Amino acid sequence: MIIAIDIGGTKISAALMDDNKIIESRKTDSIIHKDLNNLANYVIHLCQDWSEKAHLVAVACTGQVGKNHVQFLSAKQTLPLQQQLKTGFNLPVVILNDAAAAAWAEYCLGPKRQDNTLVYITVSTGIGGGIIQNGKLITATDGFCAHIGHMSVTCPTALNIQCHCGRINCIEAISSGTSIAKRASQILKTEVSCKTVFEQYLDHPDIDTLLDQCTDALVDLIANIKALTGTTVIVLGGSVGTASPFKERVIAKIAKLPSIYQVSLVSPMTGEHADLTGAAMYAQALNGSNHDTQ
Ligand SMILES: [Zn+2]
Repeated sequence: MIIAIDIGGTKISAALMDDNKIIESRKTDSIIHKDLNNLANYVIHLCQDWSEKAHLVAVACTGQVGKNHVQFLSAKQTLPLQQQLKTGFNLPVVILNDAAAAAWAEYCLGPKRQDNTLVYITVSTGIGGGIIQNGKLITATDGFCAHIGHMSVTCPTALNIQCHCGRINCIEAISSGTSIAKRASQILKTEVSCKTVFEQYLDHPDIDTLLDQCTDALVDLIANIKALTGTTVIVLGGSVGTASPFKERVIAKIAKLPSIYQVSLVSPMTGEHADLTGAAMYAQALNGSNHDTQ
């Protein structure tokens, strides 16, 4: 059996899994923004009682997940999380970025694709992704890879929007749920969430313009990804990416791109446990081939 753990900014989920099926699961608040130095102990404590039944630990984690360290961009701090968990559980540990894990789940559980290539983009509070090219998940030693949210695009407002990573006009700074909520709040002169914008303000002409700008920027990103990877399919996930007012505009705009840039945009097949399932499946595949586990 596998212990699968999903470490996010607000929640940490864990499951004991057998053959990609969840036998038992738990969820708790994340401590990433409060007590990062105790993260490993906190996670070990959450599922230590499963360790005797398991032969492997699979971790999907937010941030820049490298071979030896995880760097949490927002906290500007790194942790040797894989080694800490390996010592704590006394089991091999495979760790990957959470969006990469979801991408792997989509690739493995979705329809078989002839070119074995798929790009997953999640648009939620932030923007992330994962790239599978010729059947392989694209990774990098320092973990800064397929961080699609930090690719810069043409900003439709002609304003320069500063991203927290230090660059200007990253897609995350323009089209994420956080950015939509912030810019909509300025337009409406009242604090609103992205969800409220979609539910109540779609008829407002300035909000309509804002959503046009955000989806223009995302389609610019998609055209860049098509040129880079040659993928014919992009899975668009996340609470913003799957919201119909957003997704329908993206699909309509992709259809207007020159034909070589067009892709099929599909919704995720996997549900709320995509990160756990993807991490478990990836760890299993990697452990079977004896690479990159320690
Ligand atoms: Zn950025």
